[in-house]
Formats: sequence, C-alpha cells, structure tokens
Amino acid sequence: MSFINKINSAAKITWKILKNTVSAFSGWTGGIIVGYLFKWELKILNFNKSYVKLSECLSGVIREILSTVNTDYIRLMPNARGIPKGIDAVTFGYEIYIKGIFSEENYYDLRLILHEMVHVRQYEEKGKFFFKAHYGFGYVSENFSYENIPLEKEAREFVNNQWKKFEEKYRTTCVSSV
Ligand SMILES: [Zn+2]
Repeated sequence: MSFINKINSAAKITWKILKNTVSAFSGWTGGIIVGYLFKWELKILNFNKSYVKLSECLSGVIREILSTVNTDYIRLMPNARGIPKGIDAVTFGYEIYIKGIFSEENYYDLRLILHEMVHVRQYEEKGKFFFKAHYGFGYVSENFSYENIPLEKEAREFVNNQWKKFEEKYRTTCVSSV
C-alpha cells in the first residue's frame, strides 16, 4: 500500500466515524428537542379538550399482557389536533393523542391502543428523556424512515404476536354476551 493510499483509507475511516458520530448526535439531540416541542405543540393545540381514561376492564386486560404498564396513569385524547399525516396516534409518556374517535368496541382502535401501550412500556423502561433520544436516533440511523424506527418495529411486532391473545381476553372479559 502506497503512502497516498494509506492516507486515503485513513481519511475514509475518519470520515465514516465522523459521519456516524454526527448522525448519532443529531438523532439524539433532534429526538429530544423535536420530541419536547411536539409534545407542547399537541398540548397547546388541544388545550380545550379533555382526556378520557381507559375502562377498568380494558386496563385489566392490558395489565395481563403488559404487566409492567401502569394503566392508572394513562389518559387518552381522542379527536386530537396536530397529529401528522399517516399517523393514527402519538404517545407521550402516559398521554395518548388519537387522531380519530376512540371506541373500545372497535377492534381497529383496540389494536391501536395495544400498539401505543408498547410505547408506554418503552417510556417506562427508558424514561422520557432517553425514549426521545432513542426514537430520534432510530429515525436518523434508519435514513428517516418512520416504519423502520426500532421502537416502532418493536411495537408492531408485539401487536402481531399478542393480538390474538389480547383480543380473546378482551372479548371474554369485557364484552358481555347479553
Ligand atoms: Zn408507534
């Protein structure tokens, strides 16, 4: 390897490290900053609306599937303003902003809730600060693809794996046969 080639490959490695460091840093800080701004934007846009709680029965079913999630703290805001296109709901800690109406009898909504509950668990595990950092980093490192953010993938996979069990438990305990 000639001297100039050595410099060249050293420069390439340095560039790669620098690029990864910058993207990691921008993902973390971007996630934290954008996360907080977005949370406050939603709070302000929806200041005149009220939150609703999960029913006791649904809370119980959620705890059977996701035992660590503290369902007592969860508050939903259906018909929320300010949710981006292509997204049905946004979760900040225990607050879940839902684009449309929410009905426990609608299985699409129940599936959505199960998905958001996985985000609540991620919040509880990582803390609100690191959740945002992790989310932003995932977004940047997956080339700005929402679908491929690892925390989103985890939530989707969890719902795919647990939906049948969840739906059956819900149907047998919460839906009266009368
Ligand atoms: Zn999600």
